[in-house]
Amino acid sequence: MEIPEEFFDRVRNQFLADAVVRYVSALRRGHSSIVLVLADVDAYVPGLNFVFGLAIPELGSAAVFLRRLRLWTSREGYLKRVVKESVHELGHVFGLGHCRNPLCVMSFSNSLLEVDRKLDKFCPTCVSKLLKLGISVPESSIIQVGHDRSYKT
Ligand SMILES: [Zn+2]
Ligand SMILES: [Zn+2]
Repeated sequence: MEIPEEFFDRVRNQFLADAVVRYVSALRRGHSSIVLVLADVDAYVPGLNFVFGLAIPELGSAAVFLRRLRLWTSREGYLKRVVKESVHELGHVFGLGHCRNPLCVMSFSNSLLEVDRKLDKFCPTCVSKLLKLGISVPESSIIQVGHDRSYKT
């Protein structure tokens, strides 16, 4: 789908992330469904130079913005970043906030370095929050204690 031009800021050369996420929320099919859009654009929110993604939990809607994630990496590295940012935004949609554990997928990433550093998995604290919200997490999506450095392999 095309993102409406009116969400594009010609001075910044970026889309307004909030407007994009609100726009795509129309794709939602009922309250039990959510929308995650991968948008091949760069986007910002007021107060930040850019965002890799944005979620509006009350709308069940989120977007990941791909342009910056593609920079300075291989195709494999790019895909890993897309997965991490997608899981991160879905975590927000499901009710999680940011996590202080830098390896946790819910840690806030201000740079590609931080995206690359974190895992595509939830830390035990975030997992227990999700469980309280009624969302179960598969074992393969949980950071295993003692394997914190597996991201280096
Ligand atoms: Zn976030
Ligand atoms: Zn966490």
